[in-house]
Amino acid sequence: MSTNLMDLNTQSSAFNVFSNRAFDNHEQVVFCQDKDTGLKAIIGVHNTVLGPALGGTRMWSYRSESEALTDVLRLSRGMTFKAAVTGLNLGGGKAVIIGNSKIEKTPELMLKFGDFVHRLGGSYITAEDVGMETSDMDLVRSVTPYVTGISEEMGGAGNPSPITAYGVFMGMKAAAKHTFGTSSLEERTVMVQGIGHVGESLVEHLSNEGAKVLISDINEERLKSISQKYNAKIFEGDLYKATIDIYAPCALGATINDQTIGQLNAKIIAGAANNQLADEQRHGQLLKERGILYAPDFVINAGGIINVYAELEHYGRADIMRKTENIFDTTLNILQMSDREDITPHQAAFNVAQQRIDARKGGQ
Ligand code: NAD
Repeated sequence: MSTNLMDLNTQSSAFNVFSNRAFDNHEQVVFCQDKDTGLKAIIGVHNTVLGPALGGTRMWSYRSESEALTDVLRLSRGMTFKAAVTGLNLGGGKAVIIGNSKIEKTPELMLKFGDFVHRLGGSYITAEDVGMETSDMDLVRSVTPYVTGISEEMGGAGNPSPITAYGVFMGMKAAAKHTFGTSSLEERTVMVQGIGHVGESLVEHLSNEGAKVLISDINEERLKSISQKYNAKIFEGDLYKATIDIYAPCALGATINDQTIGQLNAKIIAGAANNQLADEQRHGQLLKERGILYAPDFVINAGGIINVYAELEHYGRADIMRKTENIFDTTLNILQMSDREDITPHQAAFNVAQQRIDARKGGQ
């Protein structure tokens, strides 16, 4: 991810905020620092027209502050459109904590981060993302009510990852229906890149459906255990050149970029990672020209936000599953719209989301 994000900065040598290409009308960007705990975080509040800006916190060893800034801006903007296209009354926001979650995340640091979230008075509501666990959100909950993704013991909806995976599975099936005429994934070759919280659960769904599952990860131990557990094949070689039916990016963003796009030999891209297209317009268009169907990431990975939204709206498991299943219809409608209007699926999804935001702004 990192190389691509560096490239995405408009001027990698300077630390620009307003002129960062991903800034895109953010309402608020907050830089948080605490010397005692070593906390360095950035909170992006992109848009609150539909409701409070909800989005997870990512802890990552960014190579530079500008890389962290670009990441949070891209992620928080993405949350605005994810909530809008999913029909939720939420805005878009996201936070990043700079550091290695395995060695630098302490309870004190998380509590301090919670403090900063609290100071925003509810305009930003946090949750977990890469490098965070439900237990971290439980800690944050002890200093602010503006947190979701807390454990079931604490009254939360629990780990959102299996729900995210189920939504991705629904979106993938819709993409298959659109491309192959059937939503069944039996015998389809699916490459899951990243078998973490979401990836593992997706592998399970695919394996149960009878798909031929290939897995790729940088964590060798996980590869071995997931491969045995779900009868998935560990992929060796250059993943971007593999001949497959479906590529499911479930690691980090911007894997569809200038280096990889010309090599891709898949019919469908459908995965959980946020911001899969390094350049939404250009790479979206190139995929369309190459006949590769892209199921927009922010449409099909909305299961997690549906799950945490339940904590705010107090709906239960049955509603969570129903709304997540609905991702199948939403995806299919968007793919059909993209064909009808001869635009990329990403643009079609974006248009649906923007119309909802504009309608609310206009008081309709
Ligand atoms: P995770 O950290 O549990 O898993 C990520 C996995 O990707 C890890 O196993 C890691 O080893 C692997 N990985 C990292 N770099 C890799 C590389 N270069 N090649 C192959 N594998 C690599 O994260 P997660 O919660 O499973 O989320 C995965 C993606 O889905 C992230 O982009 C996240 O933002 C997105 N997402 C997650 C949720 C959710 O509910 N967890 C919701 C929406 C979107």
